[in-house]
Amino acid sequence: MSTTLVWLSRDLRRLDNPALYHAAQRGNVVPVYIWSPGEEGDWGPGGARRWWLHHSLTALDQDLRDHGSRLVLRSGKSLAALRDLTAATGADAVYWNTRYEPALHQRDEQVAEALKSDGVEVKTFAGTLLHDPDAIRTGSGGPYKVYTPFWRKMTAQTAIGEPLGPPRLGETSAPEAWPESAPVADWGLLPTIDWDGGLDDTWTPGEQGAHDRLERFIAEAAIDYEDERNRPDHHGTAMLSPHLHHGEISPRQVWTAVEAWATNSNADATAFLKEIAWREFSYHLLYHFPATTDAPLKDKFAAFPWANDADGLERWQKGLTGYPIVDAGMRQLYHIGWMHNRVRMIVASFLTKDLLIAWQDGARWFWDTLVDADLASNTMGWQWAAGSGADAQPFFRIFNPISQGERYDPNGDYVRRWVPELAKLPKKYIHKPWEAPRALLEQFGVVLGDTYPKPMVDHAEARDIALEAYQQIK
Ligand code: FAD
Repeated sequence: MSTTLVWLSRDLRRLDNPALYHAAQRGNVVPVYIWSPGEEGDWGPGGARRWWLHHSLTALDQDLRDHGSRLVLRSGKSLAALRDLTAATGADAVYWNTRYEPALHQRDEQVAEALKSDGVEVKTFAGTLLHDPDAIRTGSGGPYKVYTPFWRKMTAQTAIGEPLGPPRLGETSAPEAWPESAPVADWGLLPTIDWDGGLDDTWTPGEQGAHDRLERFIAEAAIDYEDERNRPDHHGTAMLSPHLHHGEISPRQVWTAVEAWATNSNADATAFLKEIAWREFSYHLLYHFPATTDAPLKDKFAAFPWANDADGLERWQKGLTGYPIVDAGMRQLYHIGWMHNRVRMIVASFLTKDLLIAWQDGARWFWDTLVDADLASNTMGWQWAAGSGADAQPFFRIFNPISQGERYDPNGDYVRRWVPELAKLPKKYIHKPWEAPRALLEQFGVVLGDTYPKPMVDHAEARDIALEAYQQIK
């Protein structure tokens, strides 16, 4: 019987996995994961994603074993590992779902060529996005740079289709002998110092964890998504991003489940599907403008006079800026590896506009600390915030961290949760403690500059300085 290697990476799931499904139709299947972070160029997984990966691979192996298969783990150069495995198992085909990060895409093309020259059949499938990023084109055949027409084209173009049924795994598709597999613990993906307690308490990496999140979202939050999605003090979003990034659930599974829930299309479902489409748009941009991971899409921003401010960057990273909503977000990020989207926009605006620190520095910090760190979405999010990207918010629109806090965290509960030294302040002052009378601060144990920092910049002044800097490249 024919044997197929299934090379997994951004698709750590058993269900609705086209490469696995089609391999299993063909005969014996050997699912493989290869740890080769160097092949991702400068964008190998950061600390939080390594933690996730350790647990996700463990969960996938267990799930495959429960279904009569298993996950073979290898490390080193991907091509060498695949060649070794084809020799060890007698596999005559290698299947995988297409990866779109520029370095991986290029590597995969080279691997495919080399395997084909060995006489191995190679097939790739679309499993990580709803649409191939190259399939959606403007009327003149170019890529989109603006989201709304992209969304219109995407929804008009082709139906999403139903998720695939379970792959035919089990005794009939297991190889005669399983090749050697490395223990995931040998890769040292877990942190050696104890900073992952908040990750453990918050997340359940793996396919089951992903489906549980989706179910909970549909049962509890989808009904109010349009209004609640901007409230970091509430549980108004799905928190599916790390699961989607690691492919523990497919966007098609998410899309069809939300459509089935919203029997008649409703505003909440549409608002949510539009966010899933933002993810598609980010891959569309990354695919067509691969240099934007490091360079601004709008050329003129290459000359922007960013500040060289290591101290400012560190205060932002640690959540010690003196602006409560910014500090709450940065501490949430460090603690649980995730930050609410509204707050991501606020902290990114603060870094790039109040502190004039380059968006690339922010993107790097997010890369290391987010469990959902995703080259496409992170790049788009940072370029959007800095004003340098496609469909970005104009540079001169500068978020006010006080009014944003008062609007989206009106009672201050989000700040109280993540900045406990301010927890007792009344809501009138929670987003601007420096305006509180000294006696009141004393009463609640707050000493500005001691128990909590004074604002590191004056927002109004910083805004003027940012606008002046912008004049230099306008
Ligand atoms: P929900 O609101 O429940 O949305 C459902 C899904 O839609 C998300 O899981 C995500 O896959 C997708 N989505 C939602 N909003 C966006 C968006 N603005 N752009 C792209 N996809 C979106 N998202 C990442 O997945 N990885 C990143 O590295 C990342 N970096 C970001 C950096 C900045 C500066 C900004 C402003 C945004 C970034 N985002 C990133 C987008 C967004 O913040 C997260 O996708 C969202 O907060 C995930 O939470 P959720 O699953 O509860 O979202």
